Amino acid sequence: MGGIAGLRSFVQDITKLVGTSANDEAAIRQYGGEMLSKLVSADDWLPESFAQPGPASYRQYLLWCDPQERFSVVSFVWGPGQTTPVHDHTVWGLVGMLRGAEIGVGYEIRGDGKSMVKTTEETLTPGAVCAVSPTIGDIHTVSNALADRVSISIHVYGANIGAIARHTYDANTSRQKDFVSGYSNDSVPNLFDRSEEVRAAIGVASK
Ligand code: FE
Repeated sequence: MGGIAGLRSFVQDITKLVGTSANDEAAIRQYGGEMLSKLVSADDWLPESFAQPGPASYRQYLLWCDPQERFSVVSFVWGPGQTTPVHDHTVWGLVGMLRGAEIGVGYEIRGDGKSMVKTTEETLTPGAVCAVSPTIGDIHTVSNALADRVSISIHVYGANIGAIARHTYDANTSRQKDFVSGYSNDSVPNLFDRSEEVRAAIGVASK
């Protein structure tokens, strides 16, 4: 299955998963992680307009939001040297590496006024998946690991992540700031134009 059909099928699978496992975050992380790993194991489906880096900072393109806002799917695009602030999510999240490489650094708060401590550091390469959540460690930074190329990862979150009130942090003082990320795009890709496959199935010439 190539092209946008891979993303459509992923969205359908995650929709089923959040329906059957709404109260089982560990199951969502496990099975959703396997689904995401499959999605990012092929790099032939992300439309070009959702793979464009920004000149000054990373971009986050909404690819799909569940109509009930139970989950969202976002492409994160890093230009060379670009990085996120230290931030949290407040909901479960899965990160799957599609193209290039990125470095995720986990942080823990030690107390107000104290500097935060780095807990984990992981480099993701294409096909790899990792998770964040308030239940397993929710605060991190993500950076492009490559100095000369764009890196792209596909993220799935347990909410409409761009519209969630969450936080950035000052790593030196643990001080929190309110943060609502929003999205870089105004329209989402069309996952549902299946007309060509239906034409082929009934023997009608393609447009
Ligand atoms: Fe994050």
